[in-house]
Amino acid sequence: MIAVFPDKLMTPKQIVMEKLEMKLNNLINRALIVGGTHGNEFTGVYLIKLFEQFPELIRRDKFETLTLLANPEAFAVGRRYIHKDLNRCFLRQNLEDTTLSTYEDLLAKKINDSYGQNGKKPVDFILDLHSTTSNMGVTILIDNEEPFHLQLAAYLRHVNPAIKVYSSGNSGRSQNALRSLGKFGIGIEVGCIPQGVLNADFFLKTQSIIYTILNYLELYNVNKLPEFPNTFILYKYIEKIDYPRNENGEITAMIHPQLQFKDYEALNPGDPMFLTLDGQTIPYEGNSITYPVFINEAAYYETGTAMCLTNQHQITV
Ligand SMILES: [Zn+2]
Repeated sequence: MIAVFPDKLMTPKQIVMEKLEMKLNNLINRALIVGGTHGNEFTGVYLIKLFEQFPELIRRDKFETLTLLANPEAFAVGRRYIHKDLNRCFLRQNLEDTTLSTYEDLLAKKINDSYGQNGKKPVDFILDLHSTTSNMGVTILIDNEEPFHLQLAAYLRHVNPAIKVYSSGNSGRSQNALRSLGKFGIGIEVGCIPQGVLNADFFLKTQSIIYTILNYLELYNVNKLPEFPNTFILYKYIEKIDYPRNENGEITAMIHPQLQFKDYEALNPGDPMFLTLDGQTIPYEGNSITYPVFINEAAYYETGTAMCLTNQHQITV
């Protein structure tokens, strides 16, 4: 019997071999847990310190787990970064550009030389730990809709239904984020937490998800994943919205109190979005319902981002 594929004829044996090869190519042999990509997001930093002190916590039989405190200088001074955002430094052309030489440019090259796909210890999976001043609870960040990422997200939602899943869509993270170095990579974003603050509740929640992910990878590698629901809601990035500004570029309005802390909640056309300094409400003027995230994220004031608008998608893996 011969199975017909769109552009080739394959015997059953060839089909089995191809599936096996795909599976072997997608096995996780080495995972990297990263904290402190942003130096003032302490949850990840202190989890890395914990894991470096007690490596048995993250040791699993079927793959190697490494840790990285990504931006130690920024952490030392309690800032997001020294010269530029490390999590925007991993564009291939920038990594190859010898004229780029700020602290973070050099750091990105060093991290790529260590863990990138052509590095000394290429990693198959990167888990990058972040925190946010926005009220995003526990969010799983994915940068593309690879089946591997969607399946993992569905599993995490199954284990903890409070988890939200956000896709950075076309915002650029799939090319320039640290986690883009891995064959696969996701982020965990927890909040709201002020910058430079350690919060035990979110520390424990992040720690628990890390173990769930490591255990998942273990089962994935031996093809023993349990059955779990294959649908979930994905919030997909559409665009960022800046604060209202005057002719000098100064902010003239704040996040409206009715929108503050309402990440992932529906925002309808006409709903309050901003409140000007002199008390005027500015409504959301879009044409359709949206679900804002990263509302009033402290780190995004300098990038002209008051919030990111998303669409809700029902995903079936
Ligand atoms: Zn961050």
